[in-house]
Amino acid sequence: MTLAPSSADLEAAAAVDPSDLISFDSLLSADELALRDRVRTYVRQEIKPNIGKWYDEARFPLEIVPDLAELGLLGMHLKGYGCAGGTAVDYGIVAAELEAGDSGIRTFVSVQGSLAMSAIAKHGSEEQKLEWLPQMAAGRAIGCFGLTEPTAGSDPSSMTTFARRDGGDWVLNGTKRWIGLANVAQVAVIWAQTDDGVRGFVVPTDTPGFTATPIQQKLSMRASIQCEITLNDVRLPAEAVLPNVTGLRGPFACLNEARYGIAWGTMGAARDAFEAALTYSMGRLQFGRPLAGYQLTQQKLVNMALEINKGFLLALHLGRLKDAGKLQPHQISVGKLNNCREAIEICREARTILGGNGITLEHSPLRHANNLESVRTYEGTDEVHTLILGQKLTGTGAFR
Ligand SMILES: Cc1cc2nc3c(=O)[nH]c(=O)nc-3n(C[C@H](O)[C@H](O)[C@H](O)COP(=O)(O)OP(=O)(O)OC[C@H]3O[C@@H](n4cnc5c(N)ncnc54)[C@H](O)[C@@H]3O)c2cc1C
Repeated sequence: MTLAPSSADLEAAAAVDPSDLISFDSLLSADELALRDRVRTYVRQEIKPNIGKWYDEARFPLEIVPDLAELGLLGMHLKGYGCAGGTAVDYGIVAAELEAGDSGIRTFVSVQGSLAMSAIAKHGSEEQKLEWLPQMAAGRAIGCFGLTEPTAGSDPSSMTTFARRDGGDWVLNGTKRWIGLANVAQVAVIWAQTDDGVRGFVVPTDTPGFTATPIQQKLSMRASIQCEITLNDVRLPAEAVLPNVTGLRGPFACLNEARYGIAWGTMGAARDAFEAALTYSMGRLQFGRPLAGYQLTQQKLVNMALEINKGFLLALHLGRLKDAGKLQPHQISVGKLNNCREAIEICREARTILGGNGITLEHSPLRHANNLESVRTYEGTDEVHTLILGQKLTGTGAFR
C-alpha cells in the first residue's frame, strides 16, 4: 500500500484552487478579477514579507500609505473628490486581499475610507468635503473616527463627551478610547453629545486640547494603532460640525460601511490561514507520511474550505445587494457575525495543523486569529450583532 501521495494525486491537487472549490471566480467580472490580482500581488510582495516584523515591533507601517493611495484604495467606494468611485463589491474584494496580509492593514483602509472619509462624504458640508476628501484619498491626510469611550462601547448612546456652544464656537470635552490611527491622523471625526443630540465634528488634530495616546501591550492588531483621545476644551468654529445629521444614525451609517467590508476581510484572513495550513500539511511528515494524508487533517482542511467558500459567497451576495441599493442593515449583521465567527475558528484550526511552529510569527494563522479577536469586537461585537438579528427574528429587542 502506498502511503505518500502519488505524483498523479499531487497533479490533481495542483489543478484545483484549494480556496475556490465552487468556481467563485466565475461570479466576478474581468475588472473585478483584475483589481483582486493587483491588490493580491501588492500584498504578496510588500505586506507578507514584512508583516511578521511589523507585528513583532507593534508598528503600523505608515510608509505603505502612499502605495495604498496609488492603488486607489483610500475611500475607494466614494465618488468625486479624488476618490476612485468603485463599487461595493470592488471594496469588498480589496478588503479580503488586504486582510489576507493582516487585519491591521485592512483596518487602516477601513478607518480611513469607511469611517472617517465616509462620515465627511455622507454628512459633511461641501467645504468640509473639498478640504479633506481629496487629501485623504491621496494619502496626504489620515483620518480617524472617535465614537467609543472608556465607559461607552457597545452602547454609544451612553457617551459623555459633550460639545457646548460658546458664542459662535463649539467647545468639546471628554475622552475617547480605542480610536484607530488617532496619533498619526491629521483629522478626527469626533461624535459628541450636544443640547440637540449626538453630533459629529471635524477636528483638526493639531487643535489645542486634542491629545492622542497609543494603547500599548496589545495581544491583537499589533501592526495597527489604537489610541485614547482626550478632548480638553477643544475650541472649534461653528462650521466644524457635520451639518447634515443629528443622532446616532450619523455614526451608524458609517459603521455599516465598515461592517460590510469586514464580512469580506475576515474571509481573506481565513483563506490565508487555510492556505498556510494546507501547504504545511503537504510537506510535514509525521509517522512516516505527510500530515495531509491523514483523515483527521483532511477533515480539518475540508471544513475550513467549506466555510471559506460559503463565507465568500455570502460576502459577494451582500455586495451585489449593496450595489443594487437593496442591502438592509440586519443583512450586514449576518455577514459580519457569521464571517468573523467562522474566520476565527478557521484560523485557530489552521494553527493546530502547524503544531508548535504555528505559535511563531513565521506562520500567519495565529496572528490572524489574534487579530480577529479585535475584529469580532469592533464594529459591533458578536453579541451585539446577535441581538440585532434576534430582534429582527422575534420583533423583541433584548439589548436592555
Ligand atoms: C482594535 C480595535 C479597534 C477599534 N477601533 C475603533 C475606532 O477606530 N473608533 C471607535 O470609535 N471605536 C473603536 N473600537 C472600539 C470598539 O468599537 C469597541 O471595543 C466595541 O464597540 C465594544 O465596546 P467595549 O470594548 O467597550 O466592550 P463592552 O461594550 O463593554 O462589551 C463587553 C462585552 O459585553 C458584551 N455586551 C455588551 N452589551 C451587551 C448586552 N446588552 N447583552 C449581552 N452582552 C453584551 C459585549 O458583546 C462584549 O462581549 C476599536 C476596538 C478595538 C479592539
